Amino acid sequence: MISPTGATITAGTAGCGSLRIPRNNYKMSQFLHFPTVIYIEPTNDCNLSCIMCPRKKSSKAVGYMPFKLFRRVIDQLAGHDIAQLSLHLTGEPLLHPQIIDMVHYAKRSGMRHVRFATNATLLDDDLARGLIESGLDSLTVSMDTTTAAKYCPQREKLFEELDSKILRLIELRHQLGMETPKVDMQIIRMNSTERMIADFVSRWQGVADRVTVKPLLSWAGLINVPQKSPTRRLICMNHLTQGVVQWNGDVSSYCLYIDHQGDSAGIIDNLAHSSLEEIFLGAKRRAIIVAQLKGNYDVVPHCKRCPDWNDYLNGVKLKEKSEL
Ligand code: SF4
Repeated sequence: MISPTGATITAGTAGCGSLRIPRNNYKMSQFLHFPTVIYIEPTNDCNLSCIMCPRKKSSKAVGYMPFKLFRRVIDQLAGHDIAQLSLHLTGEPLLHPQIIDMVHYAKRSGMRHVRFATNATLLDDDLARGLIESGLDSLTVSMDTTTAAKYCPQREKLFEELDSKILRLIELRHQLGMETPKVDMQIIRMNSTERMIADFVSRWQGVADRVTVKPLLSWAGLINVPQKSPTRRLICMNHLTQGVVQWNGDVSSYCLYIDHQGDSAGIIDNLAHSSLEEIFLGAKRRAIIVAQLKGNYDVVPHCKRCPDWNDYLNGVKLKEKSEL
């Protein structure tokens, strides 16, 4: 096991200062700790093809995480204080035949908040009931529209059924006497949805547990997004807080890293060779964090071209929440 050694590093960057990180000698152990927000990717397969999704740019083979590997990941997380476990990354989680077993195993292992984002097009009564009974804490439905959408041809056919699938899930939850999963209806703010946002919010307010308007993310610079301000670069909090396990056991700390060049440059290691603790507390992640703290943001190429740090810097900016 590799533990944080408390090595002292010297800082003094403007970026760190603005995050109220002490400008002089501070302990690395303040920053190098096991991530508290974990993403596990059950699959990178999807039944849709939306214009704002970078999936198609990935050079990674499409696959499904074997349940045995999932169990190993959860077992390695179990001793740590994980604030949130998300079971999605680039694919549609409901495509995984064992998604309900995954949620159930994670909850049984003590994960505090288990959630995932879904396009919900595959949701049927059995899946809805299974998810409610599995102990899933919350479900983000990336509906992204109020009408048949031009930006995703498949949704045009499926959209009419989506409303009733969500309503049925909420109804079933009531029937079963459960309060979870909380349902968060989400729309991404972009040119093609701008005019729908008001309708979307009023459609779901008072019906879902939450409505979220989310900015369009660049997925580590792969998608063009409008310039954001402030432009002065600061550390991305994801490096300090997040860990990602892809379907094949690849581990990264770069939230939205997609291997579009086929070089796996953003992968820290694979679970076939090391444990999560070794990876997250090891030399490679430590070097990335030290570089970020020193204001050397170019160390991770994907982060260099990514403007999303600005949204993640302050979680409340990421979501314009309408708490209901
Ligand atoms: S800078 Fe971008 S790619 Fe890098 S960790 Fe932050 S949000 Fe993810």
